[in-house]
Amino acid sequence: MKEAILYKIEKNRVICTACARYCKLLPNQIGFCGVRINKDNKLYLANYGLFCSANLDPIEKKPFFHFYIGSIALSFGTFGCNWACKYCCNYDISQRRKVEGFEFLPNEIVEIVEKYRKLYNISSICFTYNEPTIYAEFIYDVAKIAKKEKIKIIFITNGYLSDESIDFFSKFANAITIDFKGNGNNEFARNYISIPSYETVFNTLEEFSKKKIHLEITDLIIPRVGDNLEDCRKLCKKIYDLMGEKSIIHFLRFFPTYKMLDFPSTPLETLEKHSEIAFEEGINFVYIGNVLGHKLENTYCPQCKKIVVKRYGFRVEEVNLKGNKCVYCNYKLPIKGKSQISQIDYPIVIKEIEHKDYKVVKFG
Ligand code: SF4
Ligand code: SF4
Repeated sequence: MKEAILYKIEKNRVICTACARYCKLLPNQIGFCGVRINKDNKLYLANYGLFCSANLDPIEKKPFFHFYIGSIALSFGTFGCNWACKYCCNYDISQRRKVEGFEFLPNEIVEIVEKYRKLYNISSICFTYNEPTIYAEFIYDVAKIAKKEKIKIIFITNGYLSDESIDFFSKFANAITIDFKGNGNNEFARNYISIPSYETVFNTLEEFSKKKIHLEITDLIIPRVGDNLEDCRKLCKKIYDLMGEKSIIHFLRFFPTYKMLDFPSTPLETLEKHSEIAFEEGINFVYIGNVLGHKLENTYCPQCKKIVVKRYGFRVEEVNLKGNKCVYCNYKLPIKGKSQISQIDYPIVIKEIEHKDYKVVKFG
């Protein structure tokens, strides 16, 4: 448990400013996410340094397809979330309202990267699996140490950030994936996510884009309720207006899970129609995810149309780039960092987690 940074006091109430819910908390009240608590009119981060999983993941799994291509991200996830998505495939951790986990200090996380760097090409530390904004202060503490070691800080978010949180993360985040679902439709947001609208997520996208942080967008396409093609066009237009030539979108196949077991998987045809619309709206880098072996796992040069990065699932099999330029026609692509063939194409659980204390936080 550590005192948070992202909060303010107004009219004797603690107001958490880590996300756009702005929970107003009386003493001993816990926020919607289940990990931030008012103790004696101070806000505490109850899950500081407590994690449920720690893996070496291919960076393509996040997904990042234009950032240190083929590298490995040491990835951590904790418990809790500021959303309550009915389609959450990590619901066991995101919806758990018990603060617990294996304890890692910020310096230990950086030391693990240093240790594994002798074996693996690790570019970054990634906060993922559940929503990272709810434990922003821990990530900041890791980032301060990681920067000295030239390790990148990346995270995957639902984008429901407060203005304060956007400013906070902008100081140290190197790359961010923002996850849309259901084409950013507001009715979908109300019925399946538990937020009033997607406005905040678009604001987050705009602000991070202005700050020139590397961004990739995903969009989970859910049949019947989150696959409207006009919504897809509106979403792609907005992304292109904000990010222009740097726009990158991954359309992800949904599989039945959690409270949406009675929905089918996304048909391939639906995903392909989405990708056609994205291309029509000017987005050059359009991917289809969760469909192993699909041609839109590859990166194509927008100018000569040849494959510049060939992938199979999370594995990078071929890189036809010189720096960030196409080797065939010299076109400059929006790609950051060194690109290479993958060393791994599946997650590896790091053995350090087995030696960690498992703590359960008691609030009484
Ligand atoms: S991070 Fe948690 S406590 Fe803070 S506003 Fe969001 S849901 Fe509420
Ligand atoms: S935002 Fe992500 S982790 Fe949180 S409930 Fe939704 S899908 Fe799950």
